[in-house]
Amino acid sequence: MTDASRSSWAPIPAGSGFGLAHLPYGVFARPGEAPRCGVRIGDSVLDLSRVSVPHGADFGHPSLNAFLGRGRAAWSAVRARVVELLSEPSFRDSVDAHLLPLAEVTLSLPWEVADYVDFYSSQAHARNVGAIFRPDSPGLPDNWMHLPIGYHGRAGTVVVSGTPVVRPCGQRKPPTAAAPVYGPSRRLDIEAEVGFVVGAPSTLGSRVPASAFAEHVFGVVLLNDWSARDIQAWEYVPLGPFLGKSFATSVSAWVTPLEALGVARITPPAQDPAPLAYLADPDPWALDLVLEVELDGEIVSQPPFATMYWTPGQQLAHLTVNGAALRTGDLFASGTVSGPERGQRGSLLELSWGGREPLALASGREVTFLEDGDTVVLRASAQAADGTRITLGDVTGTILPAID
Ligand code: MN
Repeated sequence: MTDASRSSWAPIPAGSGFGLAHLPYGVFARPGEAPRCGVRIGDSVLDLSRVSVPHGADFGHPSLNAFLGRGRAAWSAVRARVVELLSEPSFRDSVDAHLLPLAEVTLSLPWEVADYVDFYSSQAHARNVGAIFRPDSPGLPDNWMHLPIGYHGRAGTVVVSGTPVVRPCGQRKPPTAAAPVYGPSRRLDIEAEVGFVVGAPSTLGSRVPASAFAEHVFGVVLLNDWSARDIQAWEYVPLGPFLGKSFATSVSAWVTPLEALGVARITPPAQDPAPLAYLADPDPWALDLVLEVELDGEIVSQPPFATMYWTPGQQLAHLTVNGAALRTGDLFASGTVSGPERGQRGSLLELSWGGREPLALASGREVTFLEDGDTVVLRASAQAADGTRITLGDVTGTILPAID
């Protein structure tokens, strides 16, 4: 939709990643003002509640949900209008006053998360985890090649980038101990993931096939699924992740519309065995996003999202195959993104091979799991329609000591 020949009158720093071809949505406020919705351009946010756009009243809310619920035609109409406002010189005088420097605003969680599901769609990640935790068993669980494994997470603890993460306490059982102990997690980890934000709901009892993805899914965020490996390892049998993950999940402050990622689509890896018919994707696509994991100021991994085995469309089809309804604000995440190379692993569990092979940083530090005070930053970029690159909203979090 974005006309590649257009340029914006708004200032956009070179290599910004937030040019006219991107235009992600977020929620912002200046001190003393109510939070409302805006679109990022360069290092500014356009106050959508103050300019003439379709469904303008939606943007006075402190979340994107009203807008998300309107569906694809409305998403396209607003995006087209924002491009017009930011590119036509005739709008400059009236719009410029509603372009606020990012430095003057605080960003909050851009949408109210309804249900949250996390998948497990990277084959390299699933094989690594299998080898680390179950070295004497087959690499992948029996079901892995047949369905996108997932679990329902805790929507209420999804937080915006920048929110500190308090080290969780819980029950763990060291392998050599006779009984479990209680205390702060000693194996606090990250999972670098990509999250999808649902806009248009579906009806209970109906299915949403992969082919309907663009009608229901609005956009994309980066996501850090903070994970306490020691709590997780002791609690997960037989019902899956629980308190080892529910303490916090961080997402970008900016939601990138799918419409901005059209040229980032590529053919996903071939699937063998062929999946069951309900998982067939008539037009399968993956996103060519290269992620970056920064710890302690150093890039420790570059996970390639293009290598994910199960596609976003298949995840959506699987999530609704039993008739479970989608709600506006649902979030489903890809699972840890890991590629086949060591420098492409999306968790410290894998990067340090269960803590047995510490990762040597340039600073001299040897890393196994996160320490108090550590800051982790996730980034990702993709090709944009106009030849520039899109930078997804980054995800940062700093670990605070456990509460006594
Ligand atoms: Mn995860």
